[in-house]
Amino acid sequence: MARVFSGIQPTGDIHIGNYVGALRQWVSLVEQYECIYSVVDYHAITVEYRPAEMAERTFNTALILLACGLDPERCRIQVQSHVPQHTELGWVFNSVTPVGDAERMTQFKEKSKQHRGNINMGIMDYPILQAADILIYKARFVPVGEDQVQHVELCREIARKFNARFGDVFPEPEAILSCAPRILGTEGKNKMSKTLNNYIGILEDEGSTWEKLRTAVTDVARVRRTDPGDPEVCNIYTMHRAFSPENAQKELGEACKKAAVGCIDCKRVLLKNMMAELAPIREKALSLKGNPDYVMDTLRQGAEACKRMTEETMDEVQKVLGLLRLPHP
Ligand code: ATP
Ligand code: MG
Repeated sequence: MARVFSGIQPTGDIHIGNYVGALRQWVSLVEQYECIYSVVDYHAITVEYRPAEMAERTFNTALILLACGLDPERCRIQVQSHVPQHTELGWVFNSVTPVGDAERMTQFKEKSKQHRGNINMGIMDYPILQAADILIYKARFVPVGEDQVQHVELCREIARKFNARFGDVFPEPEAILSCAPRILGTEGKNKMSKTLNNYIGILEDEGSTWEKLRTAVTDVARVRRTDPGDPEVCNIYTMHRAFSPENAQKELGEACKKAAVGCIDCKRVLLKNMMAELAPIREKALSLKGNPDYVMDTLRQGAEACKRMTEETMDEVQKVLGLLRLPHP
């Protein structure tokens, strides 16, 4: 069975962009593939954070993955730092990746702007470690949001470079995008992001979600209620694509173009459809909070299974690199 790998950082509250761009696909892909999902904590230390909060954030992120419907009987859920082979292979990949390839990554440029006072090697090295996260499992598919497509392309390039030099070890994985691969923030400009104050958390209650939706930017050219709008440039419409049934999407899209529906009413429909999907996740998260052992057991089993898989790949890699190996006892 082909493998799928994807990861999420414990950098903050999981938002609806993460959910519709990535997590919802993660859940459905376990039907067809052998899936490995990771809370990528080593990625998260490349930006400023409070060490005292990291363990709890990592735990909560894993808990939300379970609340979203990932079944640990049917996929592996682990924490990146529990499987050191990810970073080990990352080092190997550093040696086949030109510095220029890392420098031209959009995320590196953006994060360098966001974190001017702390442009460390880790921000630049991020996609190389990400390539190792994926390729250590020889994964074929990577369900991600649009912002990560460039990194998956680089991962393919790294696989090609490694294979050309050392032999055919790695497949070239492909990104899988959802129906809403890029949700903008409530300000309507930047990608919705855990580390920008522009997100709607998937665990937020109806009141708080409505406050954010109510004030969220729509088609900026639609100034008055009587102006026709353009759903194609409206972030609220993008969210309808992710949460509303197709007939409602179509009706609202047509009505918007004729100014037959106002933005507030359109947002009310969205709120109702969003809550229908997210309320059960919130409830499941609450009940999991009362069962922390289940979350930790899931992570322990995930780490153990992943170590077996990744040791196999590292063994093969060290052999083709020509490193001195100790004979097995
Ligand atoms: P950070 O700001 O710390 O980078 P993030 O919100 O970008 O946080 P990540 O952990 O980096 O979240 O990404 C997890 C997954 O969610 C990735 O597959 C990413 O492509 C996807 N994703 C993130 N933001 C969005 C978005 N706004 N729309 C669609 N998918 C998204
Ligand atoms: Mg991100």
